[in-house]
Amino acid sequence: MLRLPRFQLHTPATVEDAALLLREHRAAEQDAARTGTPGITVMLVAGGTDLYPNMKRRQFTPTTLIALGKALPHGIHNGNGLSIGAGATLTAVATDARVVKGYRALAESAIAISTPQLRNMGTIGGNLCLDTRCNWYDQSLFWRMAEGMCMKTDPSVVCRVAPSSPRCLAVASADTVPALLALGASVRIVNSEGERVVPLAELYREDGISHLTIGRDDIVTEVILPAADGWRSTYLKLRDRGSFDFPIVGLAAAVRMEGGVVREARLALTAVGSRPMLVDTAAAALVGSRLEDDAIAAAAAAAHKIARPMDNTSSTIAQRKKTVPVFATRALGSLRDELN
Ligand SMILES: Cc1cc2nc3c(=O)[nH]c(=O)nc-3n(C[C@H](O)[C@H](O)[C@H](O)COP(=O)(O)OP(=O)(O)OC[C@H]3O[C@@H](n4cnc5c(N)ncnc54)[C@H](O)[C@@H]3O)c2cc1C
Repeated sequence: MLRLPRFQLHTPATVEDAALLLREHRAAEQDAARTGTPGITVMLVAGGTDLYPNMKRRQFTPTTLIALGKALPHGIHNGNGLSIGAGATLTAVATDARVVKGYRALAESAIAISTPQLRNMGTIGGNLCLDTRCNWYDQSLFWRMAEGMCMKTDPSVVCRVAPSSPRCLAVASADTVPALLALGASVRIVNSEGERVVPLAELYREDGISHLTIGRDDIVTEVILPAADGWRSTYLKLRDRGSFDFPIVGLAAAVRMEGGVVREARLALTAVGSRPMLVDTAAAALVGSRLEDDAIAAAAAAAHKIARPMDNTSSTIAQRKKTVPVFATRALGSLRDELN
């Protein structure tokens, strides 16, 4: 049995208190790093469905956790579009009638995550900040020590997926992210200095270790979706087991049509790179079309070109790469069929 390491737990009642606690502990962490003991000593935890297993495997060993459960907003509210508190559970998101009706890709992606128990605990904010995954990394400490570790745990070691790679190639694996990217989402971020709203696409970078662009002082508090008028969307996921598993390819497509013509489109991928990505070239192939077979084929080819799966998760590189245009064709075809 893998056991959790010892840690101190703080349960702030507000986001402001959580941000202040985080600043205080981060300052201590930085002081320790300056005096020769670098390392992550404080982390945020929401549902804990990813962080606690990672701590059991000693991928992280923070001595202090700041639990966001009481502090984060968790409601889903109408605004210009829809506002989802970062503390909303995946079950709440997947079953909300407004999400199911207006933001279908999000409902489909959330319901495809792990198991009912984990969806009841796991939050949308935790999903956006999910760590990248890899065959060489998501293993027990015993396994990783026997294999000699990898770059993601020990920067002095090579990336075991591609030893000549200058960076870690761990793979983005959060299901709701491509759906939210396709739906044009932004996120509200709070720290002890204030708050800001950034497009979700800016939250990620192509680096398996430092995959989030937000600072470790930052807390994601809200997902903001624009109005759904005229948009249709869907999410498709390839995984080993249909019952529960992380994506090995995830694709979301969204189109806004007027008079049978595509006016706006977005296509997003996950699990084929270290960051989830919008495929702008695929969107460009769709705008102005009536989702004819030719336009869909051009979008599928653009998605195929940009997908760069590596040997970091299940299945083969070839199967995952070939799945991308198949999913693009199916997803866009199903959006067209809805209109007829
Ligand atoms: C068996 C199993 C199967 C799974 N399958 C899937 C799957 O198919 N697809 C999928 O996407 N995920 C899957 N997961 C992972 C996980 O359940 C979900 O991603 C879940 O949404 C994580 O949310 P959480 O609230 O539990 O995050 P936590 O575990 O609490 O946190 C995850 C990370 O996000 C950070 N964090 C959390 N909230 C915030 C915040 N508000 N602001 C800033 N940082 C924050 C934490 O510090 C931590 O680094 C699976 C997990 C398990 C154990």
